[in-house]
Amino acid sequence: MIIRKSRKDIELMQRSGAVLAQVHDLLAPMVKAGVTTAELDRVAEAFIREAGGVPTFKGYQGFPAALCTSVNHKVVHGIPDDVPLAEGDLLSVDCGVTLRGWVSDSARSYVVGGTGGGEAQRLIDISYESLEAGIAACQPGRTVGDVGRAVQEVAEAAGFHVIRKLVGHGVGRNMHEDPQVPNYGTPGTGPVLEPGYVFALEPMIAVGTADIVEDPTDGWSIYTAVGSLAAHVEHTVAITEDGPLVLTRSE
Ligand code: MG
Ligand code: MG
Repeated sequence: MIIRKSRKDIELMQRSGAVLAQVHDLLAPMVKAGVTTAELDRVAEAFIREAGGVPTFKGYQGFPAALCTSVNHKVVHGIPDDVPLAEGDLLSVDCGVTLRGWVSDSARSYVVGGTGGGEAQRLIDISYESLEAGIAACQPGRTVGDVGRAVQEVAEAAGFHVIRKLVGHGVGRNMHEDPQVPNYGTPGTGPVLEPGYVFALEPMIAVGTADIVEDPTDGWSIYTAVGSLAAHVEHTVAITEDGPLVLTRSE
């Protein structure tokens, strides 16, 4: 069942999303060679708690941190650690904030050192472009399949692959609500979008493969099957009568 949010609910989710955008804005300039993902995690958790929120991921099914930090061929769900980032690494940072009971969920990807150019940067640029295409499709009357197709078209036109085994999702009082929001789809299929739906759209785009493998040792990390680069970007988006309202965008 897809839970519709009232205007008031969406306002509250927007406050949660504003804190989350600030977390990402705080972390962005810290993403440099020599910094560890554990340091980023500590900064994020302290900021969220200072803002009166709770880091949604921490304790979720036993996850140990406020952030998921996924480097290079890790797609998602990486656990922050004490390994320093290196120049040119592709880092994806995913974070959730619960504020007054409302969850927001958002991820950004970076090339460490921001050296620009190169395949990692192109992958990230296309991932954001695919996310924006998905957001633009979040209109009342359109469908979940339309949203997925919009993401897929951008990624595949650039020669990249969409991870299909992992999907976006409804979000609200819980981090994962109905429906599933795949990053691929057939136009006109799936649930019809209604004002009050709120989705976490999260393209996971990879070089060379759509296949993934789980880490047998930490039980969380998900890698591309062939060890190629992957990027992950995400926004929490409300569907309103006037179209999509992104709740986790920076001001
Ligand atoms: Mg997320
Ligand atoms: Mg999510």
